[in-house]
Amino acid sequence: MYSPFPITPKSQEQVKPKSSLTVISSNTPKLSQGPGTKEEWLKKVPDTKSKGEVTPLPTDDIRFVFNAKGALKDAGDLANSEDNVRPIPPHFNQRFVQAPKHLLETALGIITQNDWQDWRWQQRERLRKIDQLDGIIQVTEDEKTAFAKSDAMFHMGITPYYASLMDKDNPNCPIRLQSVPQIGELDILPSDLEDPLGEEKDMPVPGITHRYPDRVLFYTTHNCPVYCRHCTRKRKVSDPNSMADKEQIELALAYIEKHSEIRDIVVSGGDPLSLSDERLDYILGRLRAIPHVEIFRMGTRNLVTLPQRITDDFAKMLRKHQPVFINTHFNHPKECTAEALDACRKLADAGCVIGNQMVLLKGVNDDWRIVKELNHRLLLMRVRPYYIYQCDLSQGISHFRTPISVGLDIIENLRGHTSGLAVPTYVVDAPGGGGKIPLQPNYIKEHDGKKWSLRNFRGDVYTYLEP
Ligand code: SF4
Repeated sequence: MYSPFPITPKSQEQVKPKSSLTVISSNTPKLSQGPGTKEEWLKKVPDTKSKGEVTPLPTDDIRFVFNAKGALKDAGDLANSEDNVRPIPPHFNQRFVQAPKHLLETALGIITQNDWQDWRWQQRERLRKIDQLDGIIQVTEDEKTAFAKSDAMFHMGITPYYASLMDKDNPNCPIRLQSVPQIGELDILPSDLEDPLGEEKDMPVPGITHRYPDRVLFYTTHNCPVYCRHCTRKRKVSDPNSMADKEQIELALAYIEKHSEIRDIVVSGGDPLSLSDERLDYILGRLRAIPHVEIFRMGTRNLVTLPQRITDDFAKMLRKHQPVFINTHFNHPKECTAEALDACRKLADAGCVIGNQMVLLKGVNDDWRIVKELNHRLLLMRVRPYYIYQCDLSQGISHFRTPISVGLDIIENLRGHTSGLAVPTYVVDAPGGGGKIPLQPNYIKEHDGKKWSLRNFRGDVYTYLEP
């Protein structure tokens, strides 16, 4: 049975010690030698009531299906890594299931495990025409029309891996909504903007957006494994005419070199991981050699749409360039597969700090219960929920936009109800280039001089007196 992880014994007890570090000392206390048995201790614990209710999830709403249909068919238990330094707790098996590649066989034929694990194969075999989806999903008339009318402006591109997570029968599947053209894309509202964040106007040289004093956005490629239907850079992503060629990259590097105030580089695109390891190694090496450059942030959705891209060689290459921060973009729990877990832990083990930037999307994640499950899974993957973005005013994505009250309701239902690590910052990226503006529910009931009346997550009011 296939496992993306090295095949090793599944439980701790079965793992034989391999070095003196793992030999259990004869002084190590055993449970049976403690002051009582586990059962005796359990009897002493009072049966207190839970502090909160477990909310049942709707069963008739596709947004609340958190694992891909059929995923368990291919799944074996996740295994510890060979040296046992990356143990997998048993409860992970319910939440991180392998992508069901067998569901693609009717359309693509038998896919060998070698091909499936090869990110270049996944790139090459991307589904680019709507009829290639026949047999994978029941393509609707709306999806066909949307493809025909939108492909010239913003291409379709879906990796076989991401396609395998789609629900065949339900066009509202969160994976389908994010990757298959939607009829709503054809509506361009008067308030829509081609460049909603004003990135082009702050471009001193092609491919560099320099808005804030100490950091820049470095555009490295127009390519992505999956073209997200909600992409904010539709104006250039997927368009070969906007490709960052070698001259553009050299000019951008020279700009960064010349501006000693720049200490933080957001390496972006498109998706920079569409470039080869060698190319990325060159770019990161050049940046690392600039004395005033302190950190890089790589903006990538490969962890979500093509986790096979995170090879051991790639992780090893990144080690050379630390500190490296990875900003990724999981939007739904269904995207947290065994393959994605493996990719994240390779990066985390290579020393990367991984943050998630979720975009709030109608029909995908516009409910706090979905976001809570997503954020809990992300933490298990060693990914810190970092931002929730209000869907911006990019052209042709108005069907994804929710009222701001939806975002505030999500934060209201996370803050205090779960660990702070699982509570990201909800922001509106101000149209026209005003930067991120954080929003949160109002916790201030009254403020009078040095006296503040504040409410907590349960609505209880407390007074804080300033000295
Ligand atoms: S990965 Fe990012 S840049 Fe690429 S299409 Fe998706 S949202 Fe746009």
